[in-house]
Amino acid sequence: MSIPFIDLKTQYQRVESSVRARIDAVLDHGAYIMGPEIAELEQRLSSFSAVRHAVGCASGTDALVMALMALDVGPGDAVFTTPFTFMATAEAVALLGATPVFVDIDPVTFNIDPDDLRRRIGEVKDTRKDLTPKGVIAVDLFGQPADYDRIEPLAHNNGLFLVVDAAQSFGATYKGKPVCSLGDVACTSFFPAKPLGCYGDGGMVFAHNDEMRKLLVSIRVHGMGADRYENVRLGINGRLDSIQAAVLLAKFAIFPDEIAKRQQVADRYAALLADVDGLTVPTVAPGNTSVWAQYSVLARDTAHRETLMAKLKKAEIPTAIYYPKPLHLQGAFAGLKYAKGDLPVCEAIAGRIFSLPMHPYLSEQDQTAVAEALKG
Ligand SMILES: *Cc1c(COP(=O)(O)O)cnc(C)c1O
Repeated sequence: MSIPFIDLKTQYQRVESSVRARIDAVLDHGAYIMGPEIAELEQRLSSFSAVRHAVGCASGTDALVMALMALDVGPGDAVFTTPFTFMATAEAVALLGATPVFVDIDPVTFNIDPDDLRRRIGEVKDTRKDLTPKGVIAVDLFGQPADYDRIEPLAHNNGLFLVVDAAQSFGATYKGKPVCSLGDVACTSFFPAKPLGCYGDGGMVFAHNDEMRKLLVSIRVHGMGADRYENVRLGINGRLDSIQAAVLLAKFAIFPDEIAKRQQVADRYAALLADVDGLTVPTVAPGNTSVWAQYSVLARDTAHRETLMAKLKKAEIPTAIYYPKPLHLQGAFAGLKYAKGDLPVCEAIAGRIFSLPMHPYLSEQDQTAVAEALKG
């Protein structure tokens, strides 16, 4: 029997009756778009995240686009972010005509390095007369919060906004605070493989004040004004489907328990893998919690990674590499003219990292099999 990388089947067996009841309710009332489930989910998740407002939307990508539109990002603006993330983070910036400026990462947490952020903000101010520094997007990679106590003052003292890309970290905490309560705006994704996932695409934007909520709600539906046939600005079709909200409401009931289970799985991995030669297990910064969207480990070097991944493959244990190619080296951003060596920590990590199966239902037996395969 092979081990799944992410086990949505076991989870479904657990929530099947409530998911079906919730979906049936949507089929009965028929409000497939902006039905009552949307407001209910927004209320639940904003209160869970200790933030005033939540605005459901069609994906994590749309959450980022809507947040950046609400923050008035456009051509000539520089938005500082990490190159070690999923494409959507920097894509959202570029889609609005603004310029992503990549910042190197911390070699332990893999999140944006505040020292390099300071350097790169200064560099743009001093040498890029064509760009106006506008904002920072921090990403909580693999579910672990970025270093907000250092990032937030750096952003705000330079007049920049801070967007939290919590697509992988919904449910995590930074010094006791839910990650979606941080920054000026926080964004998350409910893609099925994320810690809280629906059965399709979905996302959410979190905001602190009524003005920001109003903007996001307008942008979500083509920049609507008093009603949907009055358009006061440009927007998108960024709505969350009622059926996806229904699925999320059912799954949210077990989410806190799933977070605890993910932590148990991570703790077990740390113990089981401690003596694998040349392998570095992930570290969560003290005072913070991760929701372990991925359990990503470091091999000694690229050749060692190949060896370890081959051992796991032979034991029919799936692995993945997040991310093999940093965004500054992607063809889509060739126009930004980055070269190999520009973000050395990120590039080195991309050559060594790989991820092991991680989900709340991973058994001790299966984790032992992973450890044995790595040691074999
Ligand atoms: C998944 C992800 C997104 C995009 O979310 P979608 O729902 O797939 O559009 C954005 N940023 C990060 C860091 C992600 O992991």
